[in-house]
Amino acid sequence: MQTGAPSRTVTRNDVKHADPIFENADTGGRDTPRALRDLTFPEMERLLVADGLRAIHARALWRMIYRDGVTEENVARLTPPLRRWLAERDALVNGTAPGVAADIRSSDGLTRKFLLRLGDGQTIETVAMGYPGRFTVCVSTQAGCAMGCVFCATGQMGFSRHLRPGEIVAQVLHARDALAEDGKSGLRNLVLMGMGEPLHNYDSVLAALEIISDTRGLNIGPAKITISTVGVVPGVLRLAEEKRGYKLAVSLHGATDAERSALVPAGKRWPLDELIAACRTYCAKTQRRIFFEWTLIAGANDTPAQAQRLAALLAGLDAHVNLIPLNPTGGFSGSATSGVAATEFQRVLKSAGIPSTVRQRRGIDVAAGCGQLRTERGRVVVAGVSA
Ligand code: SAH
Ligand code: SF4
Repeated sequence: MQTGAPSRTVTRNDVKHADPIFENADTGGRDTPRALRDLTFPEMERLLVADGLRAIHARALWRMIYRDGVTEENVARLTPPLRRWLAERDALVNGTAPGVAADIRSSDGLTRKFLLRLGDGQTIETVAMGYPGRFTVCVSTQAGCAMGCVFCATGQMGFSRHLRPGEIVAQVLHARDALAEDGKSGLRNLVLMGMGEPLHNYDSVLAALEIISDTRGLNIGPAKITISTVGVVPGVLRLAEEKRGYKLAVSLHGATDAERSALVPAGKRWPLDELIAACRTYCAKTQRRIFFEWTLIAGANDTPAQAQRLAALLAGLDAHVNLIPLNPTGGFSGSATSGVAATEFQRVLKSAGIPSTVRQRRGIDVAAGCGQLRTERGRVVVAGVSA
């Protein structure tokens, strides 16, 4: 903003050729169209119409971007007006594909992890996990994270910026295409468990999910998409009103405010009574099961008494608990719970009627914990500079 200028609100009408599609500017750069991948299908239709084309052209464009691929051959098949429009808007199509800073396969061949470089140099992590014919992609929603969970490599690096919808969508496309080169197809599930807090970047995340779940394109059904949140209460309440039916997982890690806040500072802002009340609202309004994540840390949150407290907290909710043994990170001295303690924790939950699963974080040899690859690469770079 210019200083000294008379104070006046700049409206879209002041901006020549402004796109009519980003009126509801919010976090994540939804006000600045950078890529066609930032647009939901209705937004793409509106953009085409605003530029004098017909809405029907959106179908061919969408199919090319999300199904067939943006190749010279496929562009040549489009109608001449659409080709001309694409040429004029080249930056929107080509200017934003992420670069690959690292591409690592786990030794068991089941996990592949990408460190992608965005246009401004930020790096984010995307992970593909699974077997041939069926795999899950885990995407980032922010570069870094503002929530500061003490055991999390992303929390330890702090917040850089929100991702735009197209930067979230691009991760899915990248993983799908890279795995296809390996002969792997079958992208079935999407989890928002990479870097960042999805509900801190609500509008861009929901736009990205609308694009990703669109049946004309990537077609990952809402029931196959899990949004994982640290417990941003206003976001949980907004999600309760959404009609699309994404799965929700809430990261708890502690069943008293004191124990939780020691690991998850966001617990001070949104205490457990507010958070669990929001979860009850979510279940009542959506009629859906809710998932809770609990990273098991030896001596911190893995005793039978703590399992009892967790069970009491979740009483009456249609809940499923995912127990995740800690993946050690450089900035946190804790260690993973033993298998015996994890089994006991699970037994206590079960006897209170709460189902749970112990999830192994796969691909530890590719630094598959959230934010760990970027941290490790950062060290490599620093070492290179100082050598
Ligand atoms: N910000 C969201 C989603 C990204 S983190 C959230 O916190 O839910 C996805 C999950 O990985 C969260 O449950 C988080 O607590 C967990 N996690 C992060 N770092 C971890 C680590 N080092 N070991 C085990 N789980 C970790
Ligand atoms: Fe952010 Fe989730 Fe990591 Fe916490 S666990 S710092 S909310 S990414």
